[in-house]
Amino acid sequence: MRAVVIGEHGTPETLRVSDRPVPAAGPGEVMVRVKACALNHLDMWVRRGVPGHKFPLPIVPGSDVAGVIEEGTAGALGPGSEVVVAPFTTCGRCDACTSGNDVACREYRILGESRDGGCAEFVVVPAASVFQKPARLTFPEAASVLLAPLTAYHMVATRAAVRRGEEVLVTAAAGGVGTAAVQIAAGIGARVTGVVGSDEKREPVLALGAERVVVVPRGSGLAETVRSAPGKASFDVVVESVGGPFFEDCIRLMRPFGRLVTCGATAGPSVSLDLNRLFFRSLSVLGCTMGSLWEMERVLRMVEAGDLRPTVFAVLPLERIAEAHGIIEDRRVIGKVVVEL
Ligand SMILES: [Zn+2]
Repeated sequence: MRAVVIGEHGTPETLRVSDRPVPAAGPGEVMVRVKACALNHLDMWVRRGVPGHKFPLPIVPGSDVAGVIEEGTAGALGPGSEVVVAPFTTCGRCDACTSGNDVACREYRILGESRDGGCAEFVVVPAASVFQKPARLTFPEAASVLLAPLTAYHMVATRAAVRRGEEVLVTAAAGGVGTAAVQIAAGIGARVTGVVGSDEKREPVLALGAERVVVVPRGSGLAETVRSAPGKASFDVVVESVGGPFFEDCIRLMRPFGRLVTCGATAGPSVSLDLNRLFFRSLSVLGCTMGSLWEMERVLRMVEAGDLRPTVFAVLPLERIAEAHGIIEDRRVIGKVVVEL
C-alpha cells in the first residue's frame, strides 16, 4: 500500500510516500481503507523528534482518520460502512478503561505517535475505536473533528467544567483545538474571547461564536494586549495550548477560583509560576491530553447535530504530505490541514 513512513526525524522535505505491506486485522480489529487523514501539531513533533522522547520509528504518521471499513466489524458497522477512527487505542479492559479514564490505560496508544496512523491506504485498529462517520460531513471534514475537538471537549466540558455566563479565554483560537474550544464553550453559553496571532484570523473566530477576538502578534505581551483591548480583562477559564510566556500571562489574567486547562506548549514547555498568585487567588491548573472514547462519542453527536462544525483549511493529496506539513509550520492556518487518498 502507499504510505508515508517516518524512518528518521527531519524536515518536511524528508517526507515521502513509499510502499509498505498492508497491515493484517486480528480478532476484534477492523481494517479501515483511509479516505482522509487530518494533520495535527503532533505530526510536527513526530516528524521533528522531541528531545528526551523516543518515538517508535519507523512509523506511519497521522492521527485523524476517516474512511470505509474494508474488513471486520464494529457493532453494527461492517465492510463498506463509512467511519471515523478515534485517534487512540486502549486495552478496553483495565480499571482506567472501564471507568472512562482511557488516557490512564497502560496500553494507551496514539495513532501516528505510538502506533501506525492514517497517512496510508489502510490502518488497523480495535473495533472499539471505530465510530460511524457523521453523515452530513465529507471525509476530509469528518477527519477534522477527531483529535483536536476531542481534546477541546475534554478541556472545556470535562476538566474545566465551563458554565453558562463564564468568561473564557481561548489562546491559539484559530488552531485545531482552539476552533473547537470556541464553539464548545460558546455552545455552553460562556462568553468567549479568542486570542489569535494575526488580523486575518479575527473574522473566522468570531464566526465560530467568540464574542470578541484579540490579536496578539508574535513577540507581543498577551496580558498587556488583552488589558488594553476593549472588553473584559479577567477570566474564569483559560483554554491554553501555547505555553512559554503566554502561560505566565494567562495566569495573570485569571479571576479568583479560575481554572486554566492546558494541552500543549508550542512555544515551549518550561514556564515560571507565581505560587503566591496561585494560592491567594485559589487558581487551578489542569493538564489535559486528548480524551476518552465516551467523549469522542459526545463530540461526534455534537457534530451530527450541527453544534460543532469542522474548520478545514486545506485538502491535499497524500503525495503532497511535505507541503501539508509546511503549511502547518507556516502558522497561517485557520483550522485543519487534511491529506486525501
Ligand atoms: Zn485499558
